[in-house]
Amino acid sequence: MTPEQETTDAERKMQFLYALRSKGVRSTRVLTAMEKVDRGAFITGHFADRAYEDMPLPIACGQTISQPSVVGMMTQALDVQPRDKVLEVGTGSGYQAAILSHLARRVYSIDRHARLTRPVRTLFEQLDITNVTILTGDGSHGLPEQAPFDRIIVTAAAEDPPGPLLAQLREGGIMVVPVGQSDAVQHLIKVTRTPDGFEYEELLPVRFVPLIEGVAQE
Ligand code: SAH
Repeated sequence: MTPEQETTDAERKMQFLYALRSKGVRSTRVLTAMEKVDRGAFITGHFADRAYEDMPLPIACGQTISQPSVVGMMTQALDVQPRDKVLEVGTGSGYQAAILSHLARRVYSIDRHARLTRPVRTLFEQLDITNVTILTGDGSHGLPEQAPFDRIIVTAAAEDPPGPLLAQLREGGIMVVPVGQSDAVQHLIKVTRTPDGFEYEELLPVRFVPLIEGVAQE
């Protein structure tokens, strides 16, 4: 790398972090985790050179890697603690899971497309990320064999927070999920499990691909 390129990379990184902060990502732990994960590694093809812009980008199977500031806001709302076991529904590119790997003890991430999960497993081996298990399956049923979870993050939009996921949330646990019709405005919802039930907080308007039942046929 030439000194000129180094400057460009450093500047790009600063702009990336600045965009996150200006959109409300203030948690030092989240910003530090996001600084450690190079989004460029999760985007291939035409759009690779746009990896550091604050926008969602297309990935395989007609899916998208989320906008970095939305990833940051969701991760901040999830308030992950170092001992936590986290479930992510919607692996996609693996970017969100990689960020979670720096914040949690253990992460399970599930996607209905084997064509997405396979390369993410290979990438995580290359990046030496060892506390994330990537699974292929229908995440709308959660992962009963590993439940309960301290934190659950859903990165596809559901019409309502899925019942099986609520059931797999530990008492005191937090779930973050985009809720709404896929072609209309959705809202990011934070659900906290209390001793008496669930508390719901609406965070911000978002736009995600839909949560679809069943495993995708390749
Ligand atoms: N978190 C991802 C972005 C996810 S895009 C990232 O960081 O790149 C939403 C993903 O949810 C898609 O990959 C889609 O295949 C997946 N998905 C949709 N419905 C699902 C379901 N029922 N179970 C598991 N994954 C699902």
